[in-house]
Amino acid sequence: MSVIEGELRDQLRKWVDSGYDDKFLLPQLKAGVAKLWLYHHKEIENGRDELNALIVKSVEVQGYVWNVRSICNSCFERYRLENMDVCTDCLVTYCYRCIGGIKMAANGKCYCGGEFY
Ligand SMILES: [Zn+2]
Ligand SMILES: [Zn+2]
Repeated sequence: MSVIEGELRDQLRKWVDSGYDDKFLLPQLKAGVAKLWLYHHKEIENGRDELNALIVKSVEVQGYVWNVRSICNSCFERYRLENMDVCTDCLVTYCYRCIGGIKMAANGKCYCGGEFY
């Protein structure tokens, strides 16, 4: 199981056990990237609807993240997240100019092993 999948399943368990308390929802950036991750991993069928429910509710409560600005970890310029790639695991952000070099250096993945979306 990937790191992000384990993390989402843990969080889902806490959320359900708490009676769907908002304090166990995903943080804003994690929720945004988790949504893309789940969409691209159709092979995940076990508990998919429940994982999706956690993500959808998190996005609803925390707000849409992609128009928020973040700093590129390579050139240190600020960009809107919709123009950046975010790692599923460590949440590092790179701008559209820098991501190519990072991906090439790490087989399309983040140095931590996470996936970029
Ligand atoms: Zn950059
Ligand atoms: Zn990473």
